[in-house]
Amino acid sequence: MTATLITGANKGLGFETARQLIAARHTVYIGSRDTERGRRAAEQLGARMVQLDVTDDASVEAAVKTIEADGGLDVLINNAGVAKEWRDDNVVIGPAEVTADLMRKTFETNVFGTVRVLHAFLPLLRRSAAPVVVNVSSGLASLTRVTTPSDPAYAYSGVAYPASKSAVNMITVQFAKAFPNMRINAVEPGFTKTDLNGNTGIQTVEQGTEIIVRMAQVDPDGPTGGYFDAEGTLPW
Ligand code: NAP
Repeated sequence: MTATLITGANKGLGFETARQLIAARHTVYIGSRDTERGRRAAEQLGARMVQLDVTDDASVEAAVKTIEADGGLDVLINNAGVAKEWRDDNVVIGPAEVTADLMRKTFETNVFGTVRVLHAFLPLLRRSAAPVVVNVSSGLASLTRVTTPSDPAYAYSGVAYPASKSAVNMITVQFAKAFPNMRINAVEPGFTKTDLNGNTGIQTVEQGTEIIVRMAQVDPDGPTGGYFDAEGTLPW
C-alpha cells in the first residue's frame, strides 16, 4: 500500500484529495494542526490522522515518528497554505499596504512550513521505493502569468501570497534536481471555492484536486521538477 501524508487536509482541497486517494487505495494520513478537526475529518473518510502544524518543529517531528513507526511514507502532499492578504471584505492587500509582518506570516506557513515538512520527512521518503512529493502552488506563482497583461493573473494585486508560491516553485525545482529518484512537482489547482478565498472560487474542490491527485500518483518515470495544472505544463 502507498502511504500518503497530506498537510492541511482537515478541509478544502486537502480533504478532497484525501477522499480521492483513499478511493485509489492509498493509506492516507490527514495532517491537521487542530486534533479535533483532524479527527472528525479522518473519521469521515476512513483516513488516519496526525496532528501536524507546519509552523511547529515539535509537531512535525512527532508526526514523522508516528508515520515512521507505522511503516514509512511514499507520498508527501504539501497542501497546507494561507492567504492572509484577502481581507474579510475580499479586498486584496497590495503593494501600498503590504508589510514585512504580512509577508512573514504568509511565508511562515506557505514557504518555511513546506521546507520544514520536506526536511523532516526526507529520510522516510528516501527509504520509499517510489517517493513522490506534490507541492500545492498557485497560478499566481507564475512570474510569466502575473506579467502578461492578457492573463487573468495579471490583475491580481497581492504581494505576499504570490511571492510565497513563487518561492514554493523554486523549492520544488531545487529539491527535484537534488533528488532525481523522487518525483517532485508543483501544481496549480485553479481558483477553487474554499475557505481560503472566502468561498469565492469558481471551481469545485473535485475540479481543483484533479491535478493534485494525478501528480500524487505520477509514475516513477513521470515528470519531476515541473509546474502543472489540469491542462498541462505552466510557464514559471
Ligand atoms: P483551505 O480550505 O483554507 O484549507 C487550508 C488548509 O491548510 C486547512 O486545513 C488549514 O487548517 C491548513 N493550514 C493552514 N495553516 C496551517 C498550519 N500552520 N499547519 C497545518 N495546516 C495549516 O484552503 P484550500 O483552498 O483548500 O488550500 C489548500 C492549498 O491550495 C493551499 O496551499 C492554497 O494556497 C492552495 N491553492 C488554493 C487555491 C484556491 O483557489 N482555493 C488556488 C491555488 C492554490 P485549519 O483548518 O486548521 O485552518
